[in-house]
Amino acid sequence: MGTISDKVHVCNSLKEAVSLVSGKDVSVERKQAVHGGDANDAYKLFLSNGEALFLKANIISNKDFFRAEAEGVDAIRTTGTIRVPNIHAIGIDDGYSFLLMEFIERAVTVHDFWEKLGTGLAAMHKADVSSFVTDGKYGFNSDNYIGAGRQKNTPKSSWIEFFSECRLRPQFELASRYFDGSFVRKTNWLLDNLDRFLYEPEKHSLLHGDLWAGNFMSDETGQPMLIDPAVYVGCNEADIAMTELFGGFNRKFYDAYFKAMGVIPGYDDRRDLYNLYHLTNHLNLFGSSYLSAVIRTIERYC
Ligand code: ADP
Repeated sequence: MGTISDKVHVCNSLKEAVSLVSGKDVSVERKQAVHGGDANDAYKLFLSNGEALFLKANIISNKDFFRAEAEGVDAIRTTGTIRVPNIHAIGIDDGYSFLLMEFIERAVTVHDFWEKLGTGLAAMHKADVSSFVTDGKYGFNSDNYIGAGRQKNTPKSSWIEFFSECRLRPQFELASRYFDGSFVRKTNWLLDNLDRFLYEPEKHSLLHGDLWAGNFMSDETGQPMLIDPAVYVGCNEADIAMTELFGGFNRKFYDAYFKAMGVIPGYDDRRDLYNLYHLTNHLNLFGSSYLSAVIRTIERYC
C-alpha cells in the first residue's frame, strides 16, 4: 500500500470534508452533475461561501479507487512538471465513497495548448522516479485501477517482465472465457516472446497510465492539466500508445512530445502491443464488442 499525502484529509462524512477544506461554517448548497468520466459519478458542489469544489462518488466497496487516484495525482504533482488538481479529501458518507478536490473552471485553451501538453508530458516522463517504486525499476508502490479494473503494480527490474506479468497476463486470464484452447496457446506464446517486440528502456518514466482524451483538460487559464491517472513507472511509449487508441491527439502534441523526448525507431510496431493491454481491459469491463480487436492484435504478433 502506498501513502496518501498529508494534505489529503480522510473523512467520515462529506460535511466534515467540506468544513475541513473550506471552513467550519461552510456547507454544500447545491450540486450539479458533471459528465465526461467513465467510472464514477461526478459533481460540482456549490458552497455557502460562494466557492465550488469537485466531488467524485462511487459505491462504498469501491472506496479504494479514490485512495489510488489520490496517490496517483500526488505522484504526478511531485514531478513538478504538469498541473494536476489539488486533492482535498477522501472518505465515506451515507452509502457512498467520495473524493473531494479543487473545482477547475475550464477556459478556452491557449493557442499552444497541444505543444504544452506534449512538452509537459515529456517533462513528466523525464522526471526522477526513484520515490515511486522501491525494490525494482518498474511498477508503483501500490496497486491501482485502470478504469474499474484492478491494475497490478508489483515492482520488477525488467520492463518486459513487468508488462507481461502485471499488464497482459492478468488481463488475458480475466478474458480466458472468450478464448478457446488454441487461442490460449497463442496468448501464452506472446507472453513468452514479448522480448521479440519490446525493448528494455534506458530511461524509466512515471506514466499517467490512462491517457485518453477524457483524462486531460484545460485549467482556468487555458493551460493543460492531467486528471484521473492510473500511474506507474514504465516505458514512456505505453502512455503515447494509449493516446492513439481512440483516434489520437492533435499532431502538434506528438511533434512537441517527440522533439523533447526523442523517438526510438520501431514505435509504430510496438504501439498496438501496448494498447492490447487497454483493449483487453475494455473486453473484460465492457464485453465482447472489443473481442475482434483483441483477437486481431494478438494474431498480428503471433
Ligand atoms: P471518472 O473517474 O468517472 O473517469 P473523471 O476524473 O474523468 O471521472 O472526471 C469526469 C469529468 O469531470 C472529466 O471529464 C472532466 O470534464 C471533469 N473534471 C475532472 N476533474 C475536474 C476538476 N477538478 N474540476 C472540474 N472538472 C473536473
